[in-house]
Amino acid sequence: MSDHACGNCSSSGSGCSSEGGCSGCGDEKLNKTLSRIKHKIVVLSGKGGVGKSTVATNIAVALSLAGKQVGLLDVDVHGPSVPRLLSLENEKPHIGHEVIEPISYSKNLWVMSLGFMLPSKDDPVIWRGPVKIGLIKQFVQDVAWNDLDFLVVDCPPGTGDEPLSVLQTLGTDAYTVIVTTPQGIAVDDVRRSVNFCKQLGNPILGIVENMSGFVCPDCGKFHKIFNSGGGEELAKETGVNFLGSIPLDPEVGRSGDEGYPIIRVDHEGPTVNAMNSIIKPILKISDSLQESNEMPKVKDLKADNGMIRIAIPTAEGKLCQHFGHCQQFALLDVDTTINSIAATTMETPPPHEPGLLPKWIAERNVALVIAGGMGARAQSLFTDAGVKVIVGAQADLPENVVAQYLSGDLTTGVNTCDH
Ligand code: ADP
Repeated sequence: MSDHACGNCSSSGSGCSSEGGCSGCGDEKLNKTLSRIKHKIVVLSGKGGVGKSTVATNIAVALSLAGKQVGLLDVDVHGPSVPRLLSLENEKPHIGHEVIEPISYSKNLWVMSLGFMLPSKDDPVIWRGPVKIGLIKQFVQDVAWNDLDFLVVDCPPGTGDEPLSVLQTLGTDAYTVIVTTPQGIAVDDVRRSVNFCKQLGNPILGIVENMSGFVCPDCGKFHKIFNSGGGEELAKETGVNFLGSIPLDPEVGRSGDEGYPIIRVDHEGPTVNAMNSIIKPILKISDSLQESNEMPKVKDLKADNGMIRIAIPTAEGKLCQHFGHCQQFALLDVDTTINSIAATTMETPPPHEPGLLPKWIAERNVALVIAGGMGARAQSLFTDAGVKVIVGAQADLPENVVAQYLSGDLTTGVNTCDH
């Protein structure tokens, strides 16, 4: 959902795709595609050759093995390598009327790569900048992903126009994972990637240090070769999570060359253990957000002397479909002993800044927010602050919405801004 007024289009909400970043400007197709994707994970690196595609591919396969509906999108315009990593090099996607069908890798993992579109895998990619940018956006919006729990994106390396275009198209609620290697120079590149994500307002799930140490194919023991630990130090220095170190493992190289993801065939060992520790916080995102239609019950809300406070974003006095665009918040104090509204206060929120509203609301002792649409990032911030969220409520007077909630009659539909 969007928390800002778009400077490029007159639409104050429906054309804007994400909190803090308008990639829509009335682009309903993109918004429609994104609205069916619950969580986006963009795998970035400061430079090429550090194992970004390998990590992205293994994350996608691991998530699918965990039972999630997953899309893997390879928009690395410089060297789309996902088809090779998954032995899909000879696949050609079906292109229908304004839609591209992704390739099915398994029953719950679909893949799309720029590599499928090249006439030959030996052809260099020599599109000019604006063409590449257009392609990236088209790829995101035109692929018929349908409903996904996760879209994992293998992003072009660096911090230039191409990764910028990926993040702007996906919106500021796309999570990022930054891959580095232990050598000093790669660590410097990653520092730039961390700042890049911070400036764009995209949450960083953490840093992965790849090719950190060596697993001997003969004895299976782990040996340090480069001065490893740079990724962990950088994570500490920048206040970002460290997700884990993947060793330089000949089996990873072989699996990449032969086109099978190591996570699918190996079940233990330092490499797979490292990959699994990277997946855990990603799976946690989906657990922490409101995944089901189950509504929080009054008894589960934070009460103060029997009183609970419910916040509703409003525009023109009614519940507003776009949380970040609301004019005022209605704060309704409910006396749980008699199950009815005791008082309503209207408050004007501060001017938009990504991530600010959840904090502002939590400071007002709010136990529950009932909204029309809300992006995954804002939901996650509310969860962290101990505030429950209901999304998909219809426009109505705040008192009516709360009365329906208290009587168990509140119905919810689609989260109008879940991207
Ligand atoms: P990038 O996407 O950053 O350009 P790739 O994922 O294509 O990098 O990896 C580059 C090469 O390094 C590939 O041949 C891949 O198989 C190999 N590789 C990646 N990670 C490892 C690892 N941990 N151990 C051994 N080889 C690796």
